[in-house]
Amino acid sequence: TGKPEITFSGAKAEQVSFSYGNETILSDVSVTIPENAVVGIVGRSGSGKSTLLKLLMRFWKVQEGSVELSGRSVEEINTKNLRDLESFVTQETQLFHDSIKNNLRIAKLTATDEEIETACKKASVHDFIMTLPKGYDTPVGELGDTLSGGERQRLGLARAFLHDAPFLLLDEPTSNLDSLNEAVILKSLREERAGKTVVLVSHRQSTMRIADTVYSVEHGRMS
Ligand code: ATP
Ligand code: MG
Repeated sequence: TGKPEITFSGAKAEQVSFSYGNETILSDVSVTIPENAVVGIVGRSGSGKSTLLKLLMRFWKVQEGSVELSGRSVEEINTKNLRDLESFVTQETQLFHDSIKNNLRIAKLTATDEEIETACKKASVHDFIMTLPKGYDTPVGELGDTLSGGERQRLGLARAFLHDAPFLLLDEPTSNLDSLNEAVILKSLREERAGKTVVLVSHRQSTMRIADTVYSVEHGRMS
């Protein structure tokens, strides 16, 4: 499309206002996410944290203000470039009817089995997968609803580790995890930090401890 490829050097939301329909969700919100920092975002349920992350991922169109990656408006970045720069974990990990391995591989189509396994170890889900009848080849469809929220969440994290982009956006990545699994994830995040930039939404104090800076959103405003 003629849009130049960019490398990641930080992200920024400036004076962003956003509404779904008539209701204003974010008003005049600014956040700076410097390269190599871990920036936390806290705030009550419904305050607009996920909406802000979705604007950084260009899931929604910017309505007012600006959202920039590497000093460029997200609108100007071509989609493949944007997806290569960002790894994310949303509050709802979407799994499709296929094997665990194929569900993970969408994060990196060229991934070897070994790379998939490494990502699952970082996400503290490898041991669980090994208890399944067909291991990585177990269809998630057969598991259906028996896959717990925490297992799905850890598969979502494994995808993000596998994708291995410079900018990591994590929306409540540990909300469904016990403290043992959380500890493994936090250790992995600390080890992954070199050369990575993280924006992290979490209610858990223990998780937020890895953040260098914490922003707080209240009724759609930064405080
Ligand atoms: P939580 O901590 O519960 O995840 P949050 O801070 O992430 O909350 P958002 O998901 O950003 O909050 O939602 C902010 C507000 O926008 C909420 O009132 C929510 O109901 C509303 N909202 C979110 N997504 C949509 C949507 N797709 N359409 C309409 N309203 C939405
Ligand atoms: Mg949310």
